[in-house]
Amino acid sequence: MHRLLPYFRPYKRLLLLAIVSNILMSVFLVISIPVLQPFLQLLFDIPRETSSTGILQEATGIQAIEHRLNEYFVELVRTQGRESALLWVCGLLVLTFLGKNLFRYLSLYFMAPVRNGVVRDLRNRIVAKILELPLSYFSEARKGDLMSRVSADVQEVDSSIIGVVESVAREPIIILGSLTFMLYVSPSLLGFALLLMLFAGLVIGRIGLVLRRQSAAAQKRLGLVSAILEETLSGLRIIKGFNAQQWQQARYERENALYASLLTQISRRRDLASPLSEFLGIAAVAIILWFGARQVFAGEMMAPTFITFLYAFYNIIEPAKHLSAASYSIRKGLGALERIEAVLAEPVKIRDQENALPVQVFSRAIEFHNVSFRYPSSEHDVLSHINLTIPKGKIVALVGASGAGKSTLADLLPRFYDVVEGQILLDGIDIRQLRLRDLRALMGIVSQEAILFNDTVRNNIAFGLEHVSDAEIEAAARAAHAHEFICALPEGYHTLIGERGTKLSGGQRQRLTIARALLRNPPILILDEATSALDSESEKMVQAALSRLLQNRTALVIAHRLSTVQYADEIIVLERGRIVERGAHESLMRQNGLYRKLVELQAL
Ligand code: ADP
Repeated sequence: MHRLLPYFRPYKRLLLLAIVSNILMSVFLVISIPVLQPFLQLLFDIPRETSSTGILQEATGIQAIEHRLNEYFVELVRTQGRESALLWVCGLLVLTFLGKNLFRYLSLYFMAPVRNGVVRDLRNRIVAKILELPLSYFSEARKGDLMSRVSADVQEVDSSIIGVVESVAREPIIILGSLTFMLYVSPSLLGFALLLMLFAGLVIGRIGLVLRRQSAAAQKRLGLVSAILEETLSGLRIIKGFNAQQWQQARYERENALYASLLTQISRRRDLASPLSEFLGIAAVAIILWFGARQVFAGEMMAPTFITFLYAFYNIIEPAKHLSAASYSIRKGLGALERIEAVLAEPVKIRDQENALPVQVFSRAIEFHNVSFRYPSSEHDVLSHINLTIPKGKIVALVGASGAGKSTLADLLPRFYDVVEGQILLDGIDIRQLRLRDLRALMGIVSQEAILFNDTVRNNIAFGLEHVSDAEIEAAARAAHAHEFICALPEGYHTLIGERGTKLSGGQRQRLTIARALLRNPPILILDEATSALDSESEKMVQAALSRLLQNRTALVIAHRLSTVQYADEIIVLERGRIVERGAHESLMRQNGLYRKLVELQAL
């Protein structure tokens, strides 16, 4: 439980209120047990004078209290008659249950904001962590994993652990209270009842354990079955082409049959649990009845006392079940919490150094000095010994076959990854010494796919900037040749983009991302040219927007379509992570090397 405490800290007051309510609720429940007794005495018209628990021991504290209560009750019957005494007892019963349920509701009332708050905080922390972690952390597999943690694991923590807090505060008190009463009434009967409960609990617990193991196995099997279905769907063309329908069908049926037979086993076992527990329960009650009734016959105990004892026993069963379920779900919930905490504890490798230098302006040049890089997962260098200078105001274009390392090289500049060897200097200072925030503020990024968010057009342009005036947004949109089409949208700049919103064409999306970069007006631009071809009208607009964006800026352009890089001041040709050619378009064409080959290939 102590692992959970930090999560509850912000909700101390509410939690305290909930726990106090829970305690009061259990107190009322426990009080209701002895209240039942006078009622039964009245009903059976037992001679009041002798009514006591029957076991004649020296008066203990509780006995003294009971004695007083009894005397009071006898007095009540004597002065007011049986009828009104009955009314009193019934009233008292209603009152105790009113108290119990009032506090039960109150505890839930105080607990609701706690559990929802804890879950909200967890979700927020995961997303904050995701935004903080370096890009290198996120492989495709991890993205899926993170999705499941944010949804499934957080849900798991919610339903298990937090529900448990309620029962942990409540059930032990109910159990203790009832046990104390039972112990006081008849220690031997209690010992007997506990033994029976233990036995029934063990039998049912054993079934539960096997069930849980089998459920986990079934979950895995279901995964296999779905995997084959998925394969079937994605491989339909091949399956049909190779006439492998029957083969695939057989594979599926085999897995499916295994799953079904496992499910049958599980169903049978699960269906056994309820009849068995009912039977065991009744058997236990019958044995206790037999044992207790004999004590009643022998005059060792009053009948109402015995019935009250049974009621107390009944009160224990539910809380005991809850507690045992709670211990199981605590373990499950802690497992989920552990997986979440593993993400939260992930070290953030790319962050400000101590005494990171602020930087506001870019004045001379960006230099790559002997830069090498490899991904943690890759076996050899993705970039090796890159030397490159981008003077202020110049445009450098990267070309090369797909996989040559162009995007990787561009990603090093805003420190999405850190170089493995060598260094990147901005105006002579290693970018790792600069404040990350400042460094990235100097750069604008226009990526290959136009990434838009499910928000208004305006917010997609303002993206991350606060206090931007409408005039500024419009100016950026005009410069990006986007103003006209935005005005034609149903709600202009306030139109929602996204699944439920307006669909935009590829060229329009690109112009929005260009407007976004223009609004920021960064001195350095990293431009990953779109690969997908646009229709020529759109193409012209996007090109016009881009050349506007490139004006008076220092830029690193990843060029996919070589026809568009001829304006670059220097073209860098990459092959397998190395610079193989460099120079202006004309001179590269004259060199008759890889660049020329690439150009000619594209011209075909
Ligand atoms: P380009 O942009 O020229 O197509 P990239 O920079 O995307 O090339 O990729 C260069 C090489 O690095 C490729 O071999 C690619 O498979 C590998 N690579 C790219 N991203 C990752 C990554 N996140 N993890 C491991 N390897 C990667």
